[in-house]
Amino acid sequence: MNKKNKILISACLLGCKVRYDGKDNLIDSNFIHRLQQQGRLVSVCPEQEGGLPTPRHPAEIQDKFPLRITDINGEDVTPQFLSGAEKTLEIAQREGCCCALLKSRSPSCGNLEIYDGNFTGSIKAGSGATADELMRNGFPVYNERQLDQLIEFIELLDGCEPNYGRRAS
Ligand code: SF4
Repeated sequence: MNKKNKILISACLLGCKVRYDGKDNLIDSNFIHRLQQQGRLVSVCPEQEGGLPTPRHPAEIQDKFPLRITDINGEDVTPQFLSGAEKTLEIAQREGCCCALLKSRSPSCGNLEIYDGNFTGSIKAGSGATADELMRNGFPVYNERQLDQLIEFIELLDGCEPNYGRRAS
């Protein structure tokens, strides 16, 4: 196994009940199962790494510059989100991860979209604190809707052997 080809993954995508509401976001994917069996997945929940409990109040990004994240009661949780992002980056670097598969739309893990800050379920373009930190430091970040792209990326790194198939399911 090439240590460089480990993949950081949001813990909730692996079925860990670490979401704010104590639930998970398990994805049923042969590709992910195979990577897990090969010991190539590094599971992290940035919000837990930052010291937040589970369950916790839902939080959304209010401003990006400077970053301000509050929970639904208006409590500022920016320091915990930033701490979680820094610790997740350290883990990715220490484990030699080549990329990350993170949960879409999360204020920590979202890579392309995030909730708009009004706690109404509305979405806008943007990225979460941990996804930002990883991307700033050169890690490609995919979400669970981009499994085909992730497969292509990993196959390239693995030497182009089509070990995982083209279908993400
Ligand atoms: Fe999942 Fe990321 Fe939220 Fe943790 S911070 S529950 S890993 S989306």
